[in-house]
Amino acid sequence: MRLTFEPAAPVLAPTATAEAFPVRRVFCVGRNYAAHAREMGRDPDREPPFFFTKWAETVVGDGAVIAYPQATADFQYEAELVVAIGRPGRDIPEAAALGHIWGYATGLDMTRRDLQLQARAQGRPWDTGKNVEASSPLGLIHPVAKVGHPASGAIELMVNGVIKQSADLSELIWTVPEVVAFLSGLYRLEAGDLIYTGTPAGVGPVTAGDLMEVAIDGLTPLRITVGAPAS
Ligand code: MN
Repeated sequence: MRLTFEPAAPVLAPTATAEAFPVRRVFCVGRNYAAHAREMGRDPDREPPFFFTKWAETVVGDGAVIAYPQATADFQYEAELVVAIGRPGRDIPEAAALGHIWGYATGLDMTRRDLQLQARAQGRPWDTGKNVEASSPLGLIHPVAKVGHPASGAIELMVNGVIKQSADLSELIWTVPEVVAFLSGLYRLEAGDLIYTGTPAGVGPVTAGDLMEVAIDGLTPLRITVGAPAS
C-alpha cells in the first residue's frame, strides 16, 4: 500500500471577522454547573475541574446535519459556552487568563451517553462516549474586541422549539479565567485551542430529524440537525 493520501485539512471555524479560526485542539470541562452535576449523580463541590479532549476534526459548523452516530442508543446534547484561545501560554495566572482569549462561541458537546456512563462505571476513559465524529458543533466565533468576556447572561438549548436547557453563565462552578488558568497548568495552551466550558442541567437524547438550537446572550445562535444514522 502506498501512502498516497493527503494529510487531513485543518478545520477552519468561521468567525464574525474576515478571518477564519484554525482549530488546533478541543478541550472540554466536565461537570461545571451544579444542577448538571446533580442530574449526573455527582456532588457539585468545588473539587478541581477535570478535562477531556476531542479531535479538532469533530468540530462542525452552524447549519450542519450531523449523522446519528454508530454504537449508541442514547445520543445527547450538551449546550456550552466555547472559549477560543488566541495567544499561547503555560501556567497562566488567573488574572492574566482573559488576555489569552481570542473570542467566544456557542457550542454543543454531543455525547454517546450510554458509552460515557458505561466507561464511568468501569473507571475507564470517556473517549468513546465523548470523542465522536461531528460531536463538537460550533457557532460563529465572536472576537473579544466585539463581545468582551461574557461572564453572565442566558444560555439556552431548544430541541424542535422546546426549551430543554436554560441557565445563566454566572452559574459556572469554575469561571472562564479559572478554567484557562487551571488547564494551562496541565498543558501549554496554543492559539487555535477551543475550550468547551461545560453544560447546564437538562441534558437529554435526540433522534434523527431533531433540530437543536443553542442561544447564548450576545453570541450568534447555533442550529444543528440530527441526521440519519452514519453510514
Ligand atoms: Mn460537556
